[in-house]
Amino acid sequence: MIKLYIMTRLDIRKYGDPVLRKKSKEVSTVNDVVKRLAQDMLETMYAAKGVGLAAPQVGMSSRICVIDIDPDKKSPIIMINPKVISGEGNVVDQEGCLSLPELFAGVKRFPNIVTEYTDINSKNKKVEARDLLARVIQHEIDHLDAKIFIDYLPDWKRKNIEKEIKRRKKKGDW
Ligand code: ZN
Repeated sequence: MIKLYIMTRLDIRKYGDPVLRKKSKEVSTVNDVVKRLAQDMLETMYAAKGVGLAAPQVGMSSRICVIDIDPDKKSPIIMINPKVISGEGNVVDQEGCLSLPELFAGVKRFPNIVTEYTDINSKNKKVEARDLLARVIQHEIDHLDAKIFIDYLPDWKRKNIEKEIKRRKKKGDW
């Protein structure tokens, strides 16, 4: 039976929200609550023009993330309990985050990974990913481990970003 949900756009939590610093729990069963959350996360990610979104960014400490790097938004990937099981190489590229809007910085990541996760139909998947997809997967898994991309930056760079966030907060723009 196909269930139709009315999808809901969720609030995206911004940097500074304590939920982003809470480690997420494993999902034990892919039940309707998990499925619904994943669908709402996709809707939220598309509306925000993002390529990835992790559950803590919508206030849920569950190991779920959604990704779509396709400019036509036709290739959604829902990952439950995702893991990077191997990684190769080192590439620095610009990265951003829906929880830190309009802030970008270079982050070093594996350009080639093998990832394992459970899909929305409870099937275990093991897939290779490269380049942008590999980067987004690593970024989203970091969220599940309470890590944020600016954690990787040298102190001076991170402080500059934090200063900018403070400035925006003062303006009520955060
Ligand atoms: Zn992010």
